[in-house]
Amino acid sequence: MKRIITILLLSSILPTLLSGLGLSAQSKQVVELRTVVIDAGHGGHDPGAINGKIYEKNITLSVAKRLGEMIKSHYPEVRVIYTRSDDRFVELYRRAEIANKNNADLFISLHVNSAADRSARGHETFVMGQDKNSDNLEICQLENSVIVLEDDYTSNYQGFDPGNPESYIIFSLLQNAHLEQSLDFATLVQDRADSGPVANNRGVKQANFLVLWKCTMPAVLIEMGFISNSNDMRTLTDKNSQQRIASNIFKAFQAYKKSYDTDIYLPPSGEEEQKPSSAPASSGNGHFGIQIMASSYLLPADAKEFKGWRCRHVKSGRNYKYYVGDYRTRDEALKALPKVRNSFPEAFIIRVDQ
Ligand SMILES: [Zn+2]
Repeated sequence: MKRIITILLLSSILPTLLSGLGLSAQSKQVVELRTVVIDAGHGGHDPGAINGKIYEKNITLSVAKRLGEMIKSHYPEVRVIYTRSDDRFVELYRRAEIANKNNADLFISLHVNSAADRSARGHETFVMGQDKNSDNLEICQLENSVIVLEDDYTSNYQGFDPGNPESYIIFSLLQNAHLEQSLDFATLVQDRADSGPVANNRGVKQANFLVLWKCTMPAVLIEMGFISNSNDMRTLTDKNSQQRIASNIFKAFQAYKKSYDTDIYLPPSGEEEQKPSSAPASSGNGHFGIQIMASSYLLPADAKEFKGWRCRHVKSGRNYKYYVGDYRTRDEALKALPKVRNSFPEAFIIRVDQ
C-alpha cells in the first residue's frame, strides 16, 4: 500500500517537476545512432595500393570485419552494413548509395596510404572538403583514380576526371551539411589511434574523396598507415595489430555514439504564446520564431527530425533550440503557427534576440 501511495505521489509530482525543467514527459523523442556503414576500400580487380604481394584491399577488408564484429557484439541494436564483405569490386558511387539507401547515420571508409617517398608513415583521417594542401590532392587522386576501373565512370560522376586538378574545383562549391559531425568523429578516430600500433598521427584533414562526396550523413575516410613504408606495412598486415586498429576505431565509435545519442524534448503544449506578452508588437533589435524542438546535441540542418522544414538554432544553456520562420512581429508569427503545428503540434512562439 505504501508503495502504491509513493507511486501515486511520484506520478502526480513528476509532470510538475518535468514541466519545471521545461520538459514534457509525453513529448520526448530519441535520436540514436542506429546504422553504421563500414566501407572496406577497393576489392576484386581493384587491389588498391600495393607493396610486393601485399594488397590494400585485403587489409581494409580484415579491419572492416573486425570493427563490424566489435560494434555488433557491443551494440546489438545497431545495424552494421558492409559495402563489401568479401573480395569483390564495388564502384565508389555504389558505396555511398548503399549508405544513403539504408539511412546510415555514419559512414566509415577504410584505406591504406601509399607514397613514392618510402619514409612517409603514419595514420590520418579525412573528411570531405577543400584543402589547399597539395599532398592531399595527391592521395585524393590516387584513391579517386579507381573509378577508371568502373564501366561507366564518366556518366556516374558527372564527367569527373580523377587525374585533372581542375575537376576538384567543383567540390569547393558544394556545401557539406555534415562537416561538423564528420570532423567530430575524425578527431576521435585520430585521438584513439594515438596509442598505436601505427605510429605517427598525421591528423585530421580535408580532401575531396569521391567515395565521401555523395554520402548524406557524417562520413570519414581513414588512411590507417602507409603500405609503402616497411614499418607501417609490417604492422598493417599483422593480425593482432589489425585487431588493435579496429579496436581504436571502435573506441572512437563508442565516444561518438555517446555524444550523438540524445533526447529531443518537444516544447510543452500551448503555453508560451498564451502568456500575455510584455514585448512590444514590433521590436527594434529582436524577432520572432516558432520553436519546434530542442536537443542537447546539435542536429544537422537536414536532420530527418525536422520533417523537411528549414530551421535555425540558438544555443540555450547546454541545449540547442530549433525554430522556423523569422517574423518581425508576434502577430506575424501567430499567423504562421497553424501551418507549423500541422508538422509539430506542440510548436510555440519564441522571441529571438539578435
Ligand atoms: Zn585506398
